[in-house]
Amino acid sequence: MTEPVDRTPRRKPKAEVRKIGGRELKPSTLMMGYGYDPQLSEGSLKPPIFLTSTFAFSSAEAGKRHFEGITGLREGGAEGLVYSRFNGPNQEILEDRLGVWEGAESSLVFSSGMSAIATLLLAYCSAGDVIVHSGPLYAATEGFIANVMSRYGVGWVDFAAGADRAGIEDAIARGRALAAEQGGKLALIYLESPANPTNALVDIEAVAAARDAAFAGEERYPPVAIDNTFLGPLWQRPLGHGADIVVYSLTKYAGGHSDLVAGGLSGSKRWMGPVRSLRNTMGTILDPNTSWMLLRSLETLEIRMQRATENAIRVCDFLKDHPKVAGVGFLGLLKDARQKDIYQRHCTGPGSTFSLFIKGGEAESFRFLDSLKVAKLAVSLGGTETLASHPAAMTHLSVPAQRKALLGITDNLVRVSIGIEDPDDLIADFEQALAAV
Ligand SMILES: *Cc1c(COP(=O)(O)O)cnc(C)c1O
Repeated sequence: MTEPVDRTPRRKPKAEVRKIGGRELKPSTLMMGYGYDPQLSEGSLKPPIFLTSTFAFSSAEAGKRHFEGITGLREGGAEGLVYSRFNGPNQEILEDRLGVWEGAESSLVFSSGMSAIATLLLAYCSAGDVIVHSGPLYAATEGFIANVMSRYGVGWVDFAAGADRAGIEDAIARGRALAAEQGGKLALIYLESPANPTNALVDIEAVAAARDAAFAGEERYPPVAIDNTFLGPLWQRPLGHGADIVVYSLTKYAGGHSDLVAGGLSGSKRWMGPVRSLRNTMGTILDPNTSWMLLRSLETLEIRMQRATENAIRVCDFLKDHPKVAGVGFLGLLKDARQKDIYQRHCTGPGSTFSLFIKGGEAESFRFLDSLKVAKLAVSLGGTETLASHPAAMTHLSVPAQRKALLGITDNLVRVSIGIEDPDDLIADFEQALAAV
């Protein structure tokens, strides 16, 4: 064995940086410096944006070792920088910090939430395989599974988000039966919680337990992945509840300013390995500029999410008894005992995205939306500004009427994402818009 000959200064600070004495530093503290050493970049306090397509090796031996990581001969990716389709300093610093929030060994960032999801599904599924997923899912995810993965011979089985242990076990059994029929395996269990647009919560602990029971004693078992875009990383940390892979649209709360599109995956090196290899091949990695913007966003993530959630609690408290409101679907106001139980076990806060049911139908809802003055009429969520939209006529327009009815996507449903404005200004805006209905 030859000793490593790479003399490139190591960019990643040692693990001790995460501790002072015996005290583990909190993510909100680590976001200001973790994973970056200014002395390696001319003392620049903030990381420069590294606009380069390729990186010079310190020696031929170092280049060989880096490629061992890239090609998967060694787990965990390359030890050094190689080529910008594989990795880059801005992306790696961002991945380190995302991993801090999630308590994950490894994270990967992507050009969008959907490219993260697509790369994950393609990495884990082969022809004949089956995906078991909770429903509803983000419309593009559901479409990708049903319309794209199916073209490559991948089947799917779904279960309702709020299902109990028996319902989940049944879905896993149906998934395995279908896989046996198709000559494949149950490749992946894919969850979204809270679900878009209903906010229905999935019992992650029950899913992990059902998976473990169904595959007890078997060498190969499907990972449990979960889209945590609505509550994470602050209010729900699924890896602590038995999930293996956490999925993000970083476009939403993580980016937080409605000015970028990005995605992320977190988990152990073991589960990230196949996804990293496929990302290396396909080039679905995030670009350095957007990675830099996300580093800035993560510095304020906690105060943004806290403020938005406090605002949402105030606004929903005002809306819930308003005479022109038929109901409010907010995690802070859950009535269903099963959903409440899941919330109490998995979540530490209700987030700031909710469903508002206006008394009436499409006309009344449109009137409300057109009357808002502070809140903007736009799809998406998780930004500093309050947004409102009409799922039945916008994001879910193409969903068949029967499925819409099943999911509770009614004509009087308005989706609201509360931002960080003054809460009394928001209440005044909602009050005048309801008066106009
Ligand atoms: C927005 C969103 C996505 C897709 O993310 P993009 O960044 O738009 O590609 C996936 N899942 C959920 C829950 C989302 O809200």
